[in-house]
Amino acid sequence: FAHLERDDPEIARVLLDELARQRGGLQLIASENFTSPAVLAALGSTLNDKYAEGYPGHRYYGGCDEADRAEVLAVERAKSLFGAEHVNVQPHSGASANLAAFAALAEPGDTVLAMELPHGGHLTHGSRVNFSGKWFHPIGYRVTPNTEEIDYDEVRDLALAHRPKLIICGATAYPRLIDFALFREIADEVGAYLLVDAAHFIGLVAGRAVPSPVPYADVVTCTTHKVLRGPRGGMILCRAELAQRVDKAVFPFLQGGPMMHAIAGKAVALREASGSPFRAYARQVVDNARTLSLSLSTEGMRPVAGGTDTHLVVADLRELGITGRDAEARCDLARITLNKNAIPFDPQRPAVTSGIRVGSPGVTTQGMGEGEMRRIGRLIGSAVRSDPATSAGASRLAEVADEVLGLVGQFPAYAR
Ligand code: PLP
Repeated sequence: FAHLERDDPEIARVLLDELARQRGGLQLIASENFTSPAVLAALGSTLNDKYAEGYPGHRYYGGCDEADRAEVLAVERAKSLFGAEHVNVQPHSGASANLAAFAALAEPGDTVLAMELPHGGHLTHGSRVNFSGKWFHPIGYRVTPNTEEIDYDEVRDLALAHRPKLIICGATAYPRLIDFALFREIADEVGAYLLVDAAHFIGLVAGRAVPSPVPYADVVTCTTHKVLRGPRGGMILCRAELAQRVDKAVFPFLQGGPMMHAIAGKAVALREASGSPFRAYARQVVDNARTLSLSLSTEGMRPVAGGTDTHLVVADLRELGITGRDAEARCDLARITLNKNAIPFDPQRPAVTSGIRVGSPGVTTQGMGEGEMRRIGRLIGSAVRSDPATSAGASRLAEVADEVLGLVGQFPAYAR
């Protein structure tokens, strides 16, 4: 860091301010976490400099021995942690991993059955503004209006009616467990591939806090930077018979040189995730999310799907008469970072929404437990009900911000 401060003080300032921002508030974005200093060290390493197109032992450049060693370690650690037959650690992101999975399993124009975005699905699962909706023919399944859990009858009916090439499950804002065995059964019934996008919950799988999709899916895609707590990036796990197709889809179809520093960081994170402290962490993430969900419910924010089995809660704010957009802005003023989120069958526009999404991975990494979650629920409740346009609301938001500062001061991020 001394080099950066000397050579580029402007960017050094940005990094210091970002550290202060992360430490100075509650980070409740469900897809974020605090990675370890060891992962950060790998990311800021000389492996950044190396071109290593290809795969270990088969590179298009010389001087790749060290790159090979890093990639083999990452792959072997991922295979053993997840019990996967084959792993590709090169995708630059979760979206790249999904594009590679589509390329490995389907052709442009093929029908793909996936969860609709407003019900919790991801952009790369068939949104019209994304490659998945532009180049493929997406059919969307939803949750049921009463349980707000996946409507498996609808999934089966749509699969039988449309005979998709690919069925996707795994979401971005779905708090409940997914029945992978049932998805497998439906995929087999119609001869479709099953892709599980485990971007959000692969860290919980690593920590054995939720069931693994690996025995059921043809391909599992994921990110490495969410609950898994690794560097920003993607990863693909698959059966041995799909290994070549997946590898060719990542390189040379989609990407050029792999980011070897990120792959080294993935190896570090995978090692960290295979120990018993990470299992305890993953269990605590789920316990914390459950307690947060109860506490939000006490504050008048109804948990979608009745609660959570994972690391995230989607809460419906309609009873409080506040939109997701306003709640996000009010929480920001109170040093609480979360995001507005559509609830199933949301009457509001996507830019407004009737809900918020909160996640426990970051605060759990900081060492917070269920007592803190109850307190956070109350703080969110106070912030959301305080209108900054009134003087009483503005001063209440300032009080909440002070209380947040006191709380996070006891659990500083990157303290070690
Ligand atoms: N898939 C799911 C389910 C996600 O939630 C996300 C990101 O949040 C992605 C894919 C994309 O990951 P990335 O942002 O790394 O491209």
